Amino acid sequence: MTATHVPGLPVIEDGHLISTNPASGAEAGRVPVADEKAVIAAVERAREAALWWQSLGWDGRKTRLLRWRTLLVERIQELAELAELESGKPVNDGIIEVTAAVEHLDWAAKNAKRVLGPRRMRTRLLLAEHVGHLEYQPYGVVGVIGPWNYPIVTPIGPISGALAAGNAVVFKPSEYTPVVGQWLADTFAEIVPEHPVLQAVHGLGDVGGALCRSGVQKVSFTGSTATGKKVMAACAENLVPVVIEAGGKDALIVDADADVAAAAEAAVWGSMTNAGQTCIGIERVYAVESVYDKFVDAVVEKAGKLRTGQEIGPITMPKQLDIIRDHIEDALAKGGRAVLGGAGAVQAPYVSPTVLVDVPAHSSEMREETFGPTLTITKVRDADEAVQKANDSPYGLGGAVFGKKDAIRIARRLRSGMVAVNGTLTFVGMGNLPFGGVGESGFGRIHGEDGLREFARAKAITVRRARSLLPAMTFERTPAQVQQIVKALRLLYGRKP
Ligand code: NAD
Repeated sequence: MTATHVPGLPVIEDGHLISTNPASGAEAGRVPVADEKAVIAAVERAREAALWWQSLGWDGRKTRLLRWRTLLVERIQELAELAELESGKPVNDGIIEVTAAVEHLDWAAKNAKRVLGPRRMRTRLLLAEHVGHLEYQPYGVVGVIGPWNYPIVTPIGPISGALAAGNAVVFKPSEYTPVVGQWLADTFAEIVPEHPVLQAVHGLGDVGGALCRSGVQKVSFTGSTATGKKVMAACAENLVPVVIEAGGKDALIVDADADVAAAAEAAVWGSMTNAGQTCIGIERVYAVESVYDKFVDAVVEKAGKLRTGQEIGPITMPKQLDIIRDHIEDALAKGGRAVLGGAGAVQAPYVSPTVLVDVPAHSSEMREETFGPTLTITKVRDADEAVQKANDSPYGLGGAVFGKKDAIRIARRLRSGMVAVNGTLTFVGMGNLPFGGVGESGFGRIHGEDGLREFARAKAITVRRARSLLPAMTFERTPAQVQQIVKALRLLYGRKP
C-alpha cells in the first residue's frame, strides 16, 4: 500500500482493484478489474457453463451445492478472518454470517427439485380432456451484484437460489469486498472445476452497470436504493428482470407486556451488530410509555458495555462516517438527547454506540438509513401509535416486535417484508423463509420457495389426452356446442336457485 491510500477506500492501480482494511489500512488483496469486454466474455462463458450445469439435473446440482456448503463449514474460520481483514467485521460476526449463508445454501440445494421441478396439475372441468404440467425453468445466466456489509450471506442468498434453479452466475462483488467475493467463486470452482458456473467480475459501479447490459437474463441486486434505481434503468434497456434488495430503516416495537430485558438485549444486538451496518438493522425503537423508562435504562446499560475495536468494528466505508456524524448532529440540533454516545461518537474509523431519545420524526436520524451503531428510542402511547410511526417511512425492509398478547397481530401490520417477534433479525437465519422489502427497500424475494422461483421462469404445458366433448378452441365447433358450453357454465358457476 502506498502512503496515499485511505484505509478501507478501494483503489484501482495498474488494472487491479486493491482492497484494504478500514482500520489498519493493511492490504486484503488485489483482483483484476473487468472492462465491458471482459464482463461480456464472462457472461458468454457462463452461457455455455449453464447448459452443462443444467445437464447435471436436480440431483447432480444438489450434490455439488452441498459439497460447497460443506467446504464453507470446514473453512468457516478462514472465511470469517478474510472478511475481517477486508471489511473490519469482527471474526465472530463473520462466523455468524457464514452460518446463515450455509443455511441458505443447504435449503436451496435440498428443496429446488420439490419447488421448481415438473409436476402435473389437476384437470379443470371446462378443459377436462387436457392435463396440465407446470415446471420452473432456469433463466440461463443470472447477474448478482452485491454490497460490502454482509459480503458472504448477501450474495450467497441469490447465488444459491440461482444455482439450485439451474442457472450459471456472474457475480460482481462490492468494490469494498472483492477479495471475499473472489474467495467464494474460487472455492466453488474447487467443487465444480469443469465449467465456470460461478464467476466473479470486479470493479466499481460501472462494472455492475456493464453486467446489467451484458446479456444476462436476470439481475439480483443488493445495495442502496439509489443504486437500485440505476440498476433498474440499465436492466430496462433490454427488459432484463430484476430483484432489488435495497436499504432500510427498520423499527422495533416494544409493547406494554414485553419482556423488557430481552427486548433491550435484542435491540442492542439488532442495532449494533456489524457496527450497525446492517440492511435489516434496528435503527428506530417505539416503546410504549409504561415500559419506556425501564427499556431505555436497560439499552443504555447494555450498549454502554460494547467497545469499539472489539464488539464494534470499524465503519467499512470511510465516507459513511460523515453521514453518521451528520445524522447524530441533526438529531441533537433538532431537540434530541443522547443518553449514550452522541456528539463526538464518531472517531474515525470507529463510531461508539449512541442511543438517542426525543428525536423529532423529521430529522435525518429518523428518516434516512444511518448505517452506524446508533439507535433512537421514541415513547408512544400504545401499540397503535407505534405501528403508525414505524410505518411512516419510505422504507419497509424488516422489523421487530417485543410483546406477548398482540405481538403477531402487530407484526402483521408492520409495512415490511419480514418481522421478528421477540427477537431481532432472526428471519434472515431461516432458509425456508423469503427475504425482501417493500417500497424503497425494493421488491422481489430471495431465500425460501419464493427465492427459488425468483430465479426460474414458470413454464406451463397442456397435453390433450382425449377428444373434446365440448370443443371450444377450434373453428370446428358448432353453434349448438357453444350453447352447450354456456349451459355447462351456468350449471357450474351460475346463480343457484
Ligand atoms: P451500493 O448501492 O453503493 O453498491 C452495491 C453494489 O452496486 C456494488 O457492488 C456497487 O459496485 C454496485 N454499483 C454501484 N453503482 C452501480 C451501477 N450504476 N450499476 C450497477 N451496479 C452498481 O451499496 P453498498 O454501499 O455496497 O451497500 C450498502 C447498502 O446495501 C445499504 O443501503 C444496505 O441497506 C443495502 N443492503 C441491502 C440488503 C438487502 O437484502 N435488502 C442487504 C445488504 C445491504
